[in-house]
Amino acid sequence: MTDKMQNIPRLIKQHLEMEAFFTGDFAVRGELPSEPRPPAAQETPSAGGCSAAEGLAAIEKEVRACCCGLNKTRTNPVPGEGNPNADIVFVGEAPGADEDAQGRPFVGRAGQLLNNIIAAMGLQRGDVFICNILKCRPPENRDPRPDEIIRCLPFLQRQLELIRPKVIVALGAHAARTLLKTELPIGKLRGRFHDYYISPDLPPVKLMPTYHPAYLLRNYSPENRRRVWQDMQKVMAELGMEVPKNK
Ligand code: URA
Repeated sequence: MTDKMQNIPRLIKQHLEMEAFFTGDFAVRGELPSEPRPPAAQETPSAGGCSAAEGLAAIEKEVRACCCGLNKTRTNPVPGEGNPNADIVFVGEAPGADEDAQGRPFVGRAGQLLNNIIAAMGLQRGDVFICNILKCRPPENRDPRPDEIIRCLPFLQRQLELIRPKVIVALGAHAARTLLKTELPIGKLRGRFHDYYISPDLPPVKLMPTYHPAYLLRNYSPENRRRVWQDMQKVMAELGMEVPKNK
């Protein structure tokens, strides 16, 4: 038997443990508070006269027409998707092969885990907005290059300005370091809120860095899984959602 085959029972056990942890079996369903939200950009026409949904659709069109270079190697752009009025925006690194094939963010294995995390928070994917720093897949899934980030970031900044979430969850080191303009490792950044300024005219938004679901799949341990859940519990508390005590 090869080493890889010997690992299969352990990998299956890890997978099942993670599934059980982040699925409804263990989750006490939280709910976003139902009191009216303060008026935000998306609910009133912006200075340009369009709603958040219209603004996001316009950005999507621009992303599709973008010819920064990555457009030559990608299959589909992945602008992002979800609720234009979301309280939470999840920001990942860049589309992978599955996302590139479907033109949708987080639809592969990491996406499945993200769906489970969102469900464990008592939410559905359609309640939140999910997107990436880069809107197109870098060839061979290599790390985003600084010049690519510089060119692509304005799309994300405009998306955030339209959505005006209450919390941004940065998934993984690339997203966290890019948004927070730091070189610190994700282990030093995660677990606490950072201020993120969407625009000079608005108060800062809470940004919670956490481990990327793909990292969690690659480096599975009950401790890492619990760390991600603790980060999400802080997000839920910040939003006034019911927080399950222990998982
Ligand atoms: N990883 C990411 O960072 N983003 C995706 O959309 C999928 C996987």
